[in-house]
Amino acid sequence: DGPFLQVEDLKVTFPTEDGPVTAVQGLSYSVEKGKTLGIVGESGSGKSVSSMAVMGLHDAKSAQISGSIRVGGTEVVGLSESRMRGLRGNAMAMIFQDALAALHPFYKIGAQLEEAYLVHHSSASKRDARRKAIEMLDRVGIPQPDRRVDDFPHQFSGGMRQRAMIAMGLINDPSLLIADEPTTALDVTVQAQILDLLQDLQREFNSAVIIITHDLGVIAEMADDVLVMYAGRCVEFGTTKQILTTPEMPYTWGLLSSVPDVSSSTDARLIPIPGNPPSLLRPPPGCSFHPRCVHADKVPGDLCSTQLPELLPASSGTAHLKRCHLADPVGVYQSEVLPEIA
Ligand code: SF4
Ligand code: MG
Repeated sequence: DGPFLQVEDLKVTFPTEDGPVTAVQGLSYSVEKGKTLGIVGESGSGKSVSSMAVMGLHDAKSAQISGSIRVGGTEVVGLSESRMRGLRGNAMAMIFQDALAALHPFYKIGAQLEEAYLVHHSSASKRDARRKAIEMLDRVGIPQPDRRVDDFPHQFSGGMRQRAMIAMGLINDPSLLIADEPTTALDVTVQAQILDLLQDLQREFNSAVIIITHDLGVIAEMADDVLVMYAGRCVEFGTTKQILTTPEMPYTWGLLSSVPDVSSSTDARLIPIPGNPPSLLRPPPGCSFHPRCVHADKVPGDLCSTQLPELLPASSGTAHLKRCHLADPVGVYQSEVLPEIA
């Protein structure tokens, strides 16, 4: 029955005082149930905006969205807000970096879980909802859930609040869960626990998961496939193994060399990508990455600064795509980039 989420040629444009800004362009991907897609990129790359579009959480009055987003077979581009609300929190749910922003400070945790349940189970009783709330808190590892259910958010630790938000996200068994930087605000130990929890719950619910992150360690741990975004476009896509071991796009190389080696306990040298992401208001011509790319001189003529590379099959395998003019990316990576990182 195909992938649960199918995004095709998505474009998201916002009007600004200085003119329209296209935050996402020509983006296509799909996620099957039981699979996790990691979307990685710097802030402003469009990774959050594209997922907000899936959830229908963009500022609907101003954002212009074109292309197709099918959730469980339903086209959601152009869907009314009331039908969107029926899907949100039910067929699909989103969890954020900041649980405090998602949880209302003045309502008990349990009351918020119960409401999230009752919105989509109108025939359920208050008692059913409370039972469900306690069950979900238990599922996400909150100790003494039958007592903590009456706590307010501020009585929970940061890690417990994150768990409570996950409980709220999953209370209606969504088939699609989008987690936007779900562990960024947490310390390393709690982060690992939350990622484990997400994996356990995904197995249990067989949901399709999108994890949005700038952290390739999280990708290595969680994702089956990886989509690398730069300046609103997909610049590389592949299995996690392809992206981590045989990446073919210089921006991905930059991401890989600017994080500690995820496979070894000793930190590799950190080489941050020089420069800043481009302005989406006046994006550079050609390859959006060319102002920061140290490999553009290996491409003949001024192709990099004049022509947008297409997203084409990479050499490592069928599912692997890259957007770059380099003729021999594998050779460049092995002879120049890997020695630099090591
Ligand atoms: Fe660098 Fe050119 Fe490839 Fe863009 S197309 S990543 S500028 S080599
Ligand atoms: Mg973001």
